[in-house]
Amino acid sequence: MISSVLPTYNRAPFSFVKGEGSWLIEADGRRFLDFGAGIAVNALGHANPALTKALTEQAGMLWHTSNLYQIPQQQVLADKLVDATFADTVFFTNSGTEACELAVKMARKYWYEKGDPARTEIITFSGSFHGRSAAGIAAAGSEKMTKGFGPLLPGFIHLPFGDHEAIAPAIHHDTAAILIEPVQGEGGIVPLPDQCLKGLRDLCDEHGILLILDEVQCGVGRTGKLFAHEWAGIEPDIMMVAKGIGGGFPLGCVLATEEAASGMTAGTHGSTYGGNPLGCAVGNAVMDVINTPAFLADVNRKAGLLRQKLEGLIAAHPDVFDSVRGQGLMMGIKCKAANSDVMQAGYDQHLLTVPAADNTIRLLPPLNITDEEIADAVDRLDKAAASLAV
Ligand SMILES: *Cc1c(COP(=O)(O)O)cnc(C)c1O
Repeated sequence: MISSVLPTYNRAPFSFVKGEGSWLIEADGRRFLDFGAGIAVNALGHANPALTKALTEQAGMLWHTSNLYQIPQQQVLADKLVDATFADTVFFTNSGTEACELAVKMARKYWYEKGDPARTEIITFSGSFHGRSAAGIAAAGSEKMTKGFGPLLPGFIHLPFGDHEAIAPAIHHDTAAILIEPVQGEGGIVPLPDQCLKGLRDLCDEHGILLILDEVQCGVGRTGKLFAHEWAGIEPDIMMVAKGIGGGFPLGCVLATEEAASGMTAGTHGSTYGGNPLGCAVGNAVMDVINTPAFLADVNRKAGLLRQKLEGLIAAHPDVFDSVRGQGLMMGIKCKAANSDVMQAGYDQHLLTVPAADNTIRLLPPLNITDEEIADAVDRLDKAAASLAV
């Protein structure tokens, strides 16, 4: 008999009743060190006092009004994002995949309004992930996500990730945009080298097409910059954001230049909940903490510490681990043992990690993780690896 919750997940047998910073706690008091952070969502840990205050104060005032009216919290958050980035304008969503839907619509509408309505094709890359909506699965294109769900939304072509030579010949008169994650998340924490991102920007400029970045997982301080593309010194035309921006409250957004957003006039897009007072109150609190030079500098310092310890760990367990990759506090360990076994051995040490493609485990701790917790996590991984050794 089917379970009352649609069984689309293989869930680990934990059920947490409380969170404290980087820790999740079961009803019997067992504590787990959380290096998954709700898949890069709890950017400031669990039950963060500043976020709890923002949420509960707003909850006592006003939850929801719809976008039929002015939403001051949304205006403030949009201004903050515009001030901090390339963007001139922001649309708020509840999730990453909704941000993908709008990014695709915006790129197509841009060309439609320019009098070039056949320009609908978007170039994407193997191993990518853009969410589970119709546009999201068609954009990513992997059989795992699309099989049985056809007919797929047309207008995407998929190129091998990292093969720069393949891109220029794929651009033609119907190409609207290139869509890419600066650091692939689900794909196994695979950073796109800065040179490649620069090269993509140049190609887009040369052909006059739009560059859409999916920073749903790698954005909002995760890599040690507010947004990952800043490392390459380039700017996109459109960017998808979610996960960390809400710190655990469902919130996402699309950022765009005035030019790229020029087709999105009144009535062309909407969302009942998107950017409601509750979500934006939390989003504002998240931005106020993360978008400071001191906070981001500390993310980079801790990333260096984590990386150094992981290199040591891998050297100590060459049969279990292959290599470490990633940027900031978005780290992946490619395993030699099955990544599911490594995760399970981690669970036995009360350490939570997240699986990814390419036999990788992801380490995505809260960005305000402490040095002691980093050392603790690597210690637990060391014990986990030792337990797997034959
Ligand atoms: C998680 C993720 C999404 C989808 O976000 P949802 O909130 O699950 O819809 C899209 N793109 C990337 C890169 C992601 O990591």
